[in-house]
Amino acid sequence: MKKDRIETRCVQGGYTPGNGEPRQIPIIQSTTFKYATSEDMGKLFDLEAEGYFYTRLQNPTNDMVAAKICALEGGTAAMLTSSGQAASFYSVFNIAGCGDHVVASSTIYGGTYNLFAVTMKRMGIEFTFVDPDCTAEELDAAFQPNTKAVFGETIANPALIVLDIEKFAKAAHAHGVPLIIDNTFATPVNCRPFEWGADIVTHSTTKYMDGHGAGVGGCIVDSGNFDWMAHADKFPGLTTPDDSYHGVVYAERFGQGGAFITKATAQLMRDFGSIQSPQNAFLLNMGLESLHVRMQRHCENAQKVAEFLDAHEKVSWVNYAGLPGNKYYELAQKYMPNGTCGVISFGVAGGREAASTVMKNLKVAAIETHVADARTCCLHPASATHRQMNDEELEAAGVSPDLIRYSCGIENADDLIEDLDQALRAI
Ligand SMILES: *Cc1c(COP(=O)(O)O)cnc(C)c1O
Repeated sequence: MKKDRIETRCVQGGYTPGNGEPRQIPIIQSTTFKYATSEDMGKLFDLEAEGYFYTRLQNPTNDMVAAKICALEGGTAAMLTSSGQAASFYSVFNIAGCGDHVVASSTIYGGTYNLFAVTMKRMGIEFTFVDPDCTAEELDAAFQPNTKAVFGETIANPALIVLDIEKFAKAAHAHGVPLIIDNTFATPVNCRPFEWGADIVTHSTTKYMDGHGAGVGGCIVDSGNFDWMAHADKFPGLTTPDDSYHGVVYAERFGQGGAFITKATAQLMRDFGSIQSPQNAFLLNMGLESLHVRMQRHCENAQKVAEFLDAHEKVSWVNYAGLPGNKYYELAQKYMPNGTCGVISFGVAGGREAASTVMKNLKVAAIETHVADARTCCLHPASATHRQMNDEELEAAGVSPDLIRYSCGIENADDLIEDLDQALRAI
C-alpha cells in the first residue's frame, strides 16, 4: 500500500478501529489492568510480553496518541510525557548520567536551559552551550570524550533562530552520539528533523499540537537510526544488562528502533512517573487531527502580520524567518519550505514604555505566558517574565526592552493587523 501523507496521518494515524469498535480513540481511564494468572503478569514485569499493568508506566490511550506523533515524525517508537519539560529531561537523562557531558545550542527555550544548566548540572551532568550559528570547527571543539548527546531546537523559542540541523547532526555523528531536536515550534507538519539526520525528537505538545491551550504535555520520538551497539561503550545503559529488569539488554532485546523508548518507559517512567493523563492524551489527539490545517493558517497569518509590521513606521525591527532579509530566511527555506511557525517578535520605537503602551491597547491579542495557541497571544518580556532586569541586563539576556513576542492565532489576519495598527498608533 502507498504510504499515506502527513495530513492523513494527522487525522487517522495511531488508531485503526476494528469492526464495531469506537471511531474515536477510547479514553482508558484506568490506573490498572486485570490478569488471569500471576505468571501472565510476571511476564510483563520481566518485559517478556507486551501489555499494560499500571498507568504510571503506560496507558493504551497515551500509546495510540504517541503512535500518531511517531507516524507524523516518521519514527519507530514514541512515548507521551506529562509536559515538554519531562520530555526534554527524559530524552537526555535516558543516555547521560553523572560524569557525562552534553553539547546544547545556547538559544534553547529558557525552561530547557534552566533544566540543563542548573538542575541536571546538580545531577552531575555537564553542558557546553554553543552558539547555534557557530562554524563546524567551533562545534567540533565543544565535544569531550564523555559527551553523550547533542541538543537543539528547530526554531528557538523565543529567539526564533532556525537551527542548521544537518550541521549539528554531522558533528554529533562524527563523535558517535545522537542528535536530539526539540521540534515544538515547527511541528512535523513543517519540519521532520529525522529527514535531516536528527536521531531523537522531543515536543512540548502543550503548544501547536494541542493548539487550544487545553492540556500541558510532551512527547519523545525515536528515529530508530542511531546504532547504539556500534557505540556500545558510550551507552552502557542501552547495551549492558539492566539489573532492575532481570538483566535485559535494551539494544539487543528491543533492537535499534525500540531500545531508547522502551528504556525510557521501563526505567524513567517507572521511577519518575511523569505520565500524561489519558484525558489529556485524548484532548491532544483532537488537536492533532487539525494540526496540518492550523499550522498552515498560523503561518499565513504570521507572514501577513510580519509584512505589515515590517512596513510600519512605529516598528523598529521585526524578527520572522519568513521575511526575505531575515538572517535565517535561507535556512528556513531549506528546512521549512511550507512555513515556519506563527510566532513573531518585534520591537517598537520608544523602547520599554512604548511596548507597554502597545500591549495595553491590543484588543484581539491577549496578554499571556503562552504561545502557539489558536487564539492570538502576546507577551512583553521586559514587563513580565524579565521584569526584574534593567535595560543592560535585558540586552545581555538577548531580550531587548522593546521586544514584543506575538504568537499569531488562526483568526482573520486583517483583524490581527487592524488591532496591531490601532495599538501602535496609541504610542
Ligand atoms: C514550552 C516549551 C517547552 C516546555 O514545555 P512544557 O510543556 O511547558 O513543559 C519546551 N520546549 C519548547 C520549545 C517550548 O516552547
